[in-house]
Amino acid sequence: LKDEIKSLKVINKFAILGGTFDPIHFGHISVAEAVLDKTDVEKVLFIPSGKPPHKELECVSNSDIRLDMTRLAIEGHENMEVSSIEIDRGGMTYTVDTVLQLKSLLGNDAKFKFITGADAIHDIKTWKDYKLLLKICSFIAVTRPGYNKNTEAMEIEKMEKKFGCDIEFIEIPPVDISSSQIRQNISNGISVEGMVPDKVAEYIFKKGLYK
Ligand code: ATP
Ligand code: MG
Repeated sequence: LKDEIKSLKVINKFAILGGTFDPIHFGHISVAEAVLDKTDVEKVLFIPSGKPPHKELECVSNSDIRLDMTRLAIEGHENMEVSSIEIDRGGMTYTVDTVLQLKSLLGNDAKFKFITGADAIHDIKTWKDYKLLLKICSFIAVTRPGYNKNTEAMEIEKMEKKFGCDIEFIEIPPVDISSSQIRQNISNGISVEGMVPDKVAEYIFKKGLYK
C-alpha cells in the first residue's frame, strides 16, 4: 500500500480533489484551502487523472508531468497530499473506480468525500456509473466563478432528492482561474503570473509546456 494512502488510515475525514491538473493552479489550491477551512475535512488528497474520459479529444499533457506539477504545487501545505492512484491504474480513469479502490484499500468505514467545482457537479450525470458513485460517496460541491451559485444550489437540492445522495454545498472565495486559460495565455505569450505557484511556473517554462 502506498505511503500516501496508508497515512490516510489515521485521518478521521479526508476529501479528494480529482482533476486533470493540466496545469494545477491557484484555483485548485484555494478550493482545497476553503474545504479545509470550512468543513470538518482534515486533509485534501489531490488525485491527477490518468487519461481523462471527458478530455479525450483535447491534448492532455503526459501523466508524469501533471503529477510532478501537482506535487510541486502543494509543497509546504501540511494538510494536502497527492496520490498517483489513477495514473498508476492506467488507461481511462473513472471516479467511481477510484472510490471503490480507496474503499477496498482503506476499509469500508473510511470517511472521505469527493470535491467538485460547479462545472463538475453540473456534469456529473455524464460520469461512469454516476448513480452508484453518488450512492457510495459523499460530495462537497464548491462555487466557481462563471457559474451561478443559486442555480448550483438548486441543482444540488434536486439531485439530493432524486438520488438520495449527500452533497455538501459551500460557497468559497472566488478565484477566476482555469487551466484552459493558462494554456491559452502561455501559447499566446501572455503572463500567467499569479495564476500558478512559482515552482509550477518554473517547471512549465523549463519543460516548454503549452507553447
Ligand atoms: P480545464 O480548463 O482544463 O478544464 P480546470 O481549471 O477546470 O481545467 P480541472 O483539472 O478540470 O481544472 O478541475 C478539477 C476540479 O477543480 C473540478 O472539480 C473543477 O470544477 C475544480 N476547479 C478548478 N478550478 C476551479 C476554480 N477556479 N474554482 C473552483 N473550482 C475549480
Ligand atoms: Mg475543468
